[in-house]
Amino acid sequence: MSAEPIQTETPAVFDTHSQADGQWNELDWVPTTVYWGIHVLALGVLLVGPSATDLMLLAGAFWVRLFFITGGYHRYFSHKSYKTSRAFQFFLAFMGTTCVQKGPLWWASMHRHHHRFSDQPEDVHSPRQKGFWYAHQGWIEDPAWQATRLEYIPDFGKYPELQFLNKWHVLGPAALITLCVAVGGFSGFLWGFCLATTMLWHSTYTINSLSHRWGSARYDTGDDSRNNGFLALLTLGEGWHNNHHRYQASARNGFYWWEVDITYYVLLGLEKFGLVWALRKPPEAVLAEGRGVLPERTAA
Ligand SMILES: [Zn+2]
Ligand SMILES: [Zn+2]
Repeated sequence: MSAEPIQTETPAVFDTHSQADGQWNELDWVPTTVYWGIHVLALGVLLVGPSATDLMLLAGAFWVRLFFITGGYHRYFSHKSYKTSRAFQFFLAFMGTTCVQKGPLWWASMHRHHHRFSDQPEDVHSPRQKGFWYAHQGWIEDPAWQATRLEYIPDFGKYPELQFLNKWHVLGPAALITLCVAVGGFSGFLWGFCLATTMLWHSTYTINSLSHRWGSARYDTGDDSRNNGFLALLTLGEGWHNNHHRYQASARNGFYWWEVDITYYVLLGLEKFGLVWALRKPPEAVLAEGRGVLPERTAA
């Protein structure tokens, strides 16, 4: 037997959506203004200073929402690395929308596109193809990638409640803003929404930019994905990105006990409560390959 093939979960039907090479298409100024406006407002924390409530809002709105990107939008909606109920699936989707990264179908369809064409010319966010900053955040503002590519995500696109959240993804951020203002007033809005969201965005984006540049490659995946312990701590385990490109369907990206993967530990906790189940793990052949052990070959 040869080594376990690079595992992919992406659908087989793709079109060749293209952009002008090296050019950003004309920006849509409304979302672009909102995006940079939140960055500027985040600086407002320097003027108001923190209260204990503000700091709790910041920590909660950063770490809790980060899990719903890593454990929800990424490991569930993009890769189906575990199973859950339709109700909890909806909860994961709604909490994902609070992260201000658009809806679950858009996010997961873009991510499946990334894995399908990773670091090839068609890749939606490859530092190799379009430069570091385009991979980090430029692609998100590019009108070429605003539409949900439903052909990539028919498995979740069939649920009307997910289509609703995908269209009305602004409801999640609106709910979070309301909560922050109710708990902490204007200061709570600056700390719990503007600063936490800016931190959340750029932590998430490091996986598209730095994790394809900085770190080590245990596996030859044919792309530039890297493992990086610092980024893994920052992103609840997503920094084990070379592992992830090797075996995308795994619910754990830290393949070995020393590779800290907090998203996976939270998923194990949710499994104990019966909220999620059937967590997928990397096959033994992939783990052995990562240890440098060649797979056994049977005699001809
Ligand atoms: Zn990647
Ligand atoms: Zn992925």
